[in-house]
Amino acid sequence: METWLYISGIGIAIGLVHLILFLILLFRRRKEGREKLALVYTLFSLFWIAAVALANLEAVFLPVVTESAGALIPVLALALAVGYLTCVALLLEYPFWPIVATAGYTWTAILLGATVYFLFAPPSRLPLEQIGMGSWAVFTLGTLVLLTVGLFRSRMAFHRNRALYWLLTADALALGQALTLFPLGPLRMVGPLVHTLGAIALLRGVLGFWLPNVKAVLRSIFGFLFLFTATALLLTGVVLAVERLMTISVMPSTSLAILLAVGLALVYLPLYQALARLVDRLLVGIGFDPAQALRDYSQTISTVLDLEQLAQTAVQTVSQVLDIQRGALLISSETERGGLLLRPVPGLGEVSTDPIELEPISPLLVRLKEQHTPLFQYEVEHHPVLREALPREREGLRALEMEIYLPIWAEGELAGLLALGPQRTGEPYAPRIVEFLSTLAHQTGVALQNARLFAGLQELNAQIMQLNESLRAAYDRLERLDRAKSDFLSIASHELRTPLTQIRGYTDVLNELVRSDALTRDQIARITENISRPVRRLERIINAMLDASQLETGMNFHFAPTALVGVMRMAIEPFQEALQERNLTLTTYGLEDIGPIRADMDRLVQAFGNLISNAIKFTPDGGRITIEAHPLDKEHFEVTITDTGIGISKVDQDLIFEKFYRVGSIDLHSSGEYKFKGGGPGLGLSIARGVIEGHGGCIWVESEGYDEERYPGSTFHVVLPYHAHRGPCRWKRSEQGG
Ligand code: ADP
Repeated sequence: METWLYISGIGIAIGLVHLILFLILLFRRRKEGREKLALVYTLFSLFWIAAVALANLEAVFLPVVTESAGALIPVLALALAVGYLTCVALLLEYPFWPIVATAGYTWTAILLGATVYFLFAPPSRLPLEQIGMGSWAVFTLGTLVLLTVGLFRSRMAFHRNRALYWLLTADALALGQALTLFPLGPLRMVGPLVHTLGAIALLRGVLGFWLPNVKAVLRSIFGFLFLFTATALLLTGVVLAVERLMTISVMPSTSLAILLAVGLALVYLPLYQALARLVDRLLVGIGFDPAQALRDYSQTISTVLDLEQLAQTAVQTVSQVLDIQRGALLISSETERGGLLLRPVPGLGEVSTDPIELEPISPLLVRLKEQHTPLFQYEVEHHPVLREALPREREGLRALEMEIYLPIWAEGELAGLLALGPQRTGEPYAPRIVEFLSTLAHQTGVALQNARLFAGLQELNAQIMQLNESLRAAYDRLERLDRAKSDFLSIASHELRTPLTQIRGYTDVLNELVRSDALTRDQIARITENISRPVRRLERIINAMLDASQLETGMNFHFAPTALVGVMRMAIEPFQEALQERNLTLTTYGLEDIGPIRADMDRLVQAFGNLISNAIKFTPDGGRITIEAHPLDKEHFEVTITDTGIGISKVDQDLIFEKFYRVGSIDLHSSGEYKFKGGGPGLGLSIARGVIEGHGGCIWVESEGYDEERYPGSTFHVVLPYHAHRGPCRWKRSEQGG
């Protein structure tokens, strides 16, 4: 047959295949960007194949036609190279793909224009063919570089497989185009033939989301070739042996052939099987017994209750049989909004422990809940639906650097995911392995549930312990207050009896003197003075009791304009004698800086009086008492009363403001009014707090602690508003670090 018939036959067949690819793409309903690019590519391919076929049909067409077609081949090949580079850049998510497309196609259009122009107006002075070929080489090289970089960059097996797939496709396409750029005569049709393979792979890659495992395909091809060659060699050897034996043997040739055939049949089958097994082991092989591994695994995890340990056991079991780089358990819990929180518990290798929150409508969550099959990171990044997930969710998963997530179900709920990184071999997880891992994940369900329950119990336990602690503290406080109340009875009777005894003593003396008629004016004055002192003290105690009884029901206040200096002067005045007696220094600072105030003067005098009286009582002879005032803000000012006394322990600092609360044992109680450590009935501070709070102020104490050797002293802080008001204190203690 004539060559041109072959050429046109091959040309038509190749053209038809490309046309079918073109039509498949054309009639797809929802075309994505890459599919549109592939459509343009296959359209150019049709023109290119037509040009190649025409260029080779010198025998049929006029030289002008074949030459014109030949001149167009480099430009059309360039269009294909531009198309593929754009497609690859888009697939690898390089943002510059539109620039490549625009620049490449513009350049192609210019070259095409020039080529067509010079076809009609020869001779051309430009080496257009060489320019076309050079440009083709640049774009093709660009594609190969991008793909090779992508291949080396991808750390996950599925991603690497994808890069390898596109690299091989690019090789086939580029080789096909290259073969047509050289004047090989009729051999040029080999180019489009090779190109067809690449174009089919291109379409498959553009349309399908999962790509075939390239290495596995190559391996089975090599396996097949190996077995094929081995068998062919064996058979050839046998045939040659028969031939040789026939010349030297005395046996009839038919019998000899039958004998050898039987012998061969006996040897061939076992030999073939052994070879096939060898190939399987060398190329594909699953080097462990899944059933045994699962049995061992379920025995080990049944006793594990700790989440971290469970993660380690699960991942390490897998790593023993598969040699993976990293792995973790992702423990799931529902969020308040109905989403899912995945908390990674590392099991092997370095794993980010940042939790990942999936929204209730996240396609990832829907995929995990609706399909019980394993999820691949490759899907997360390339599946058209899963790609719609929030960037935060996809980046969270990407940061884990895992390859596969195996859902762990327990009682119909998604309890977690077993996340595994890539295998060290760089192989994607084969379906058989995925099946094994799914069973393993399934078996983890009950153990995970138990571990979660255990973790929950531990947390609950910790909460209960904490509650217990606060209950104990509250109980302690109540017990102290209760003790204070019972102490009060004995203290109050003592407090009342002491002045009464004094009064009785003096009235008895008075009676005696009256009866013996020996009473001088002087004596009367001294005795009445001695009687009126305990009376005043009785009065004070009873008044304090009355005031304290009003604390719950609310004291009555009469707010009126006054001045802090005046209040303080009146509060200090009654203690002058005691101060002198006990050799204490009292100094005031800044009282004048506080402007006019509105308050209940008598009550403030009483409150500050109580604080000063305590400072005197709890400071040893020769100590110092300092009263300082300073403005805080527009509304408030502060008065501090600092002493160099015995101090107050931290536990007591709140309690002392409670009614009847006194520190220490009641035996310390002394009847001496301002004697060192002379306790009272435990009402002074509760009344002071009632008064200060009744003015809309607040009061607290600061002290390093109670120490009768070092005398750390105490500072009582009183914050008051310039304008007294009802209701709580508006000054926030934290604002001034108190
Ligand atoms: P009392 O009538 O016993 O003085 P308070 O209510 O005034 O009652 O004080 C309660 C307790 O607080 C006192 O018994 C004392 O132990 C302690 N306290 C009060 N002020 C001071 C202070 N300035 N230094 C040390 N302890 C103090």
